[in-house]
Amino acid sequence: MADSPKDREADRDRAGIDRRTFLQQSSRAALGLGAFGVAYAARAASAPAGAPTIQRFVTLGKTGLVISDIGFGSSGCPSADIVRHCYDRGMTYFDTAEMYGSEGWGDGEFVETFIGEALHDKRDKVVITTKYVAEAKDDRKLIMSKLEASLRRLRTDYVDIFLNHAVNHLDRLKNPEWFEFVDRAKQQGKIRFSGMSGHGGQLQECIEYALDHDLVDVILSSHNFGSDPKFYERFTKKFDWVANQAGIRRLFEKAHQKGVGVIAMKTQMGAKLNDLSAYEAEGATFQQAALRWVLSDPNVDAAIISMTSKEVADSYIRASGKRGLGASDARVLEHYVRNHAADYCRPGCSRCESACPLGVPIADVLRQRMYAKRYGNLPLARSGYRALGESASACLSCSGKPCENACAYGLDISALTRETAALLVG
Ligand code: SF4
Ligand code: SF4
Repeated sequence: MADSPKDREADRDRAGIDRRTFLQQSSRAALGLGAFGVAYAARAASAPAGAPTIQRFVTLGKTGLVISDIGFGSSGCPSADIVRHCYDRGMTYFDTAEMYGSEGWGDGEFVETFIGEALHDKRDKVVITTKYVAEAKDDRKLIMSKLEASLRRLRTDYVDIFLNHAVNHLDRLKNPEWFEFVDRAKQQGKIRFSGMSGHGGQLQECIEYALDHDLVDVILSSHNFGSDPKFYERFTKKFDWVANQAGIRRLFEKAHQKGVGVIAMKTQMGAKLNDLSAYEAEGATFQQAALRWVLSDPNVDAAIISMTSKEVADSYIRASGKRGLGASDARVLEHYVRNHAADYCRPGCSRCESACPLGVPIADVLRQRMYAKRYGNLPLARSGYRALGESASACLSCSGKPCENACAYGLDISALTRETAALLVG
C-alpha cells in the first residue's frame, strides 16, 4: 500500500476523520505512553498543518524504554536547531557519540553539545544514547572519564544507553575492564543500559558473541535492503553473492528473542547521491522506502538516520508509523540496487579481509569512501581515513594482484581503495 502524506490524508478523509479528530486520537493513544506521551501529544497538536510528526513508538526490548520508531542520528549534525526541530516533530530518541564533530569525526564542535543545548531542559521526555570506541586495552578509569566528559557536554547526569562504538573485533568485546566500567556506571546511575554498535568487518561474529554471552542490553547495527538475500532474490539469480548477509537478520531475530533492543543504522545502502525522482511515486521518496523496509523487519525496534537539515529530517519523519513496503517502494529500491550496487561494500562483510598481505583494512577504507562519495561528507571521510593509520594508503603503490577477485560481491577492490586514498590523503 502506498504511504505518502497525501495517501494518509486521503485515508483519514475516507474514514471521515478531520485533522482535529486525528490529533485528539493521537493524543489519547499517546497518553498511554506516560510522560513521553503527554509531551508528544502537546507537540503533535502544535505542529503546523501538514508538517510530519512521529507516528509510532516502540518498546526497546527488555529495557522497557519507549522510543520513537525513527530516531535522531547525529553524525554530521550541524546545529542544536535541528535537534529542537526533531523534538518538536515528536522524536524522542537521540543517538550521538563522543567522536562526532560538526565537521567530521573529532573535528569541529562536539555534536553532543548540540544535543545538550537542545534537550537539557527536556531530559525526562527523551531517551539519549551516546557511544565511545572502547579499545581492548582501555581500562575502566579511561572509559569512565570518557562517559563523564560526554555527560558534561550533554548537560545531563545520566545517559539512557551507553554503547561500545563501532565494535569490529572480538578482543574489544572481551575486555573485562568494559564490564567493570558498566557495572560501576550503572551503580552510580550514570548509565541505565549498555551495549554495542557495529558496521565494520566481523560485525556478525561480534553480535553473535555478545548475544551468546549476554553482554548487551541493546545493539545498534547496520541494516538495509541491500543486506537481505530475499530482497535480491526477486530480481537476480546471483543469490550466492549475498547469502552471507542473511546472518544479520538471523542475529536480529536471536536478539529479539532474548529481549535485546535492536536499532538499525546505515539504512540507505550507502545513500548514493543521485536523482531517483523518475522512480519515486505517490510522494514516497527512496529514503522513506529504505526506512520503511528496515522498520518492516519484525525484529528491528527502531532506526536512526543522520539528520543534517530540517528539510531532510521532515522527509525522514514522513516514513514514521508504517511497516510494510508498497509497490512503488519496492520499485525504487530495486532501481537503486541495479544501478548502485557495483561499488557498495556491504557493512559487516569481511570476506576479503585476509586477501591483503599489507593488512589494509579494506572494509573500513571503503566505508570512508562511502562517506566521501555517497554521503558527500568529505570532512567525515578524511577524519575517518586518518584514524585508520598510514597503512590504509598502501594501495597507492601496490599492483593490486593480491586482492584481485577477493570480493564476494565482485567489487574491484584495488581500483576503489586507490581512488579512496587519492581522494582522502593529505
Ligand atoms: S591493492 Fe594491494 S595493498 Fe591495497 S588492498 Fe589490494 S592487495 Fe592490499
Ligand atoms: S570489498 Fe567485498 S568482500 Fe570485501 S568487505 Fe566489502 S563487500 Fe565484503
